[in-house]
Amino acid sequence: MTDDNDDLPLPPESGGGFFGDAPAEPAQVPALQENNTPYRVLARKYRPQTFEDLIGQDSLVRILRRAFELKRVAHAFMLTGVRGVGKTTTARIIARALNCVGPDGKGGPTAEPCGVCANCTAILADRHPDVLEMDAASRTGVDDVREIIEATRFRPMQARMKVFIIDEVHMLSRNAFNALLKTLEEPPPQVTFIFATTELRKVPVTVLSRCQRFDLRRVPQSLLIEHFGRIAQKEGASLSDDALALIARAADGSVRDGLSLLDQAIAQGASDADAVSDMLGLADRGLVFDLLEALMAGKAAEALDLTDQAYARGADLGVLLADLLDLLHLVSRLKAMPSLREGRDLPEAERTRGGMLADRLSTSVLGRAWQILLKGVGEVESAPDRRQAAEMVLIRLCHASLLPTPDRLIRQLTEGGVDLSLPSGPSGPSGPSGGSAQAGPAEGAGVQARATQQVSTSMDPGGPRAHVRLVANGGEIIEPGYAEAEAEQAPEPEPLTPPRTWREMVALTWDKVPQLHGTLRNSVHLVRFSPPDVQIRLEDSHTKADRLLQNFLEEHFPGQWRISLSTAEGQPTLDEQGAEVVQLNRAEVEAHPLVKAILEAFPGAKIGDVQDHSLDEYGLPPEITAPLTEDAPPDLEFAPLDADFLDEDDLLKDQEPL
Ligand SMILES: [Zn+2]
Repeated sequence: MTDDNDDLPLPPESGGGFFGDAPAEPAQVPALQENNTPYRVLARKYRPQTFEDLIGQDSLVRILRRAFELKRVAHAFMLTGVRGVGKTTTARIIARALNCVGPDGKGGPTAEPCGVCANCTAILADRHPDVLEMDAASRTGVDDVREIIEATRFRPMQARMKVFIIDEVHMLSRNAFNALLKTLEEPPPQVTFIFATTELRKVPVTVLSRCQRFDLRRVPQSLLIEHFGRIAQKEGASLSDDALALIARAADGSVRDGLSLLDQAIAQGASDADAVSDMLGLADRGLVFDLLEALMAGKAAEALDLTDQAYARGADLGVLLADLLDLLHLVSRLKAMPSLREGRDLPEAERTRGGMLADRLSTSVLGRAWQILLKGVGEVESAPDRRQAAEMVLIRLCHASLLPTPDRLIRQLTEGGVDLSLPSGPSGPSGPSGGSAQAGPAEGAGVQARATQQVSTSMDPGGPRAHVRLVANGGEIIEPGYAEAEAEQAPEPEPLTPPRTWREMVALTWDKVPQLHGTLRNSVHLVRFSPPDVQIRLEDSHTKADRLLQNFLEEHFPGQWRISLSTAEGQPTLDEQGAEVVQLNRAEVEAHPLVKAILEAFPGAKIGDVQDHSLDEYGLPPEITAPLTEDAPPDLEFAPLDADFLDEDDLLKDQEPL
């Protein structure tokens, strides 16, 4: 009858009549409890009865309370939100608030329905003659709506207000909406409509504009954890914090879905994270962590062994890849928002192990692993043998983790005389470049790259530098690696290099304040850059980018910069500038001594795609700046978040796009 029942093992409400006759008693399922009280599913048992009980919907509650205080309650509401966030529950609370007469039978509409008066109890039991619920999913036609309109003409039987709750209202036909519209335009004074929908976009604007709209939000995990913890306690079940967190995570913002899982967990006696993982069909989280660590270290044998273990325990390897994706996402979030490590949203293990991985892996390495896995999940779905396909994806990921980025490779070559050979044993590589990153042992990954000669090239620093994508034997993509990330991450964080140009200033923000970085790139125009003054023009004055940038600079270079706003046109944004850069001529690249050297270093490699990155990740040619000092490296690592992610697609044009 309502969306509360989507997935709960409730018997169908008794039918008959348009809205269905109200059942005499709440639906029941076979008793599971030791005493003889009938068992009710938790979602129903703990359905919020008052605005107070609604969790995670603070603004809705505040606005509604205020409306009741001011006696200015709308005659039509539109409640939207994903399933299970409490739309019909809210509708019923509103219905009670409108109709409550208080324990003494004399009260008026109130934001605090008493729960004991005749109206409250009847509505609570779904059997109030004036509060009518309809599921538009099954009643979509114009005749169904006519029935409602007909009903609005009669005075309420026992309540103050007739309340029509129409769930999944977007399912109504166009004619049905039109029929409804007239009533909505001039609702009879004693009628309130409460619509609920998961798909607001399908509701005609003409209808929307006549409703007060509330967007019910996904309930944050921390609130779900607390809520489920309280309910578990009331039920006499003890679940560990980690187990509750897993349930909250799986609930994905839906109280009802989460309670349904909690029901299962309690029934199965699952009280710790392992048991709940099993119940949820998740591969053991620890194993997923082990696997990710092995993959990012390029340890293919270990990764496959762990995969075998998961498979033996009945895990679907497609699901395992999805779990890996999920974990990568978590690690990336931990990297971007270190404060997550303090919160209670995440189980302890995820905070600590995830945090360690986040510290170790660079954002670009995480992003590339994500790309490979995302593509891999799709491959597994279409492969004749899921297990084989999943293993191939994992091997590819290992392989990718071992290889230096083309950028780095080029840098090593241009710095002169680097031994490119990847060692086959544990003995570390030795090269004149000293601190340059090198791939670790190529365990099982089958990397056959070996330099045939020492390469020494001297390049005009202002000249074109190619970003070359390489395809090794058998079409394997040469992807950047973990080893490199470790090398990048190894040193203590250094103080930021003072920016010499606008571009460098923007680049400084990219991993510190990624959102600001995006705004600076695509909607901020440089008007003047003359240290310490920087004048900019904002395309969108709401961004506050000037203040955010000033704060950022104050944090790292106290008192050294002044950002001000200008109305002058200024330069195109960095993104606009990047789009204008012309691609290098392919033949020019092929003839380039550097490219030749790379091709020799990776036998069988061929040039996949060419872009004139010129080592500037904004796609812009190098800027002319003041002479570099010794401790200011010429090539700042300022890859934007999306840098390099296009490689695979461009290479594998014959494959489906992501
Ligand atoms: Zn009441």
